[in-house]
Amino acid sequence: LMDKELPDEEKQSIFDIAKMHPDVHGVHGIRTRQGGKIKFIQMHLELDDDLSLIRAHNVADEVEKMIVDCFESEVDILIHLDPLSVVVKH
Ligand SMILES: [Zn+2]
Repeated sequence: LMDKELPDEEKQSIFDIAKMHPDVHGVHGIRTRQGGKIKFIQMHLELDDDLSLIRAHNVADEVEKMIVDCFESEVDILIHLDPLSVVVKH
């Protein structure tokens, strides 16, 4: 069975949810894959350079929870955190 990407509307929802977080300035590099019943999602969040590590960690957890809550199926999320000054769009 071939894995495939999530539908465009689900990818847009993931982007919109992440952007709703007040500490998230931008989102890029969203990659998705449906593997059996699990949705695999990767994304990069753009955060203030001087956000503390504990705060950045919490932002990632909060965004992850917001996304998990919007899907009924199992979701596996990997979030990469980029300081704004070193963001390279990809
Ligand atoms: Zn990045």
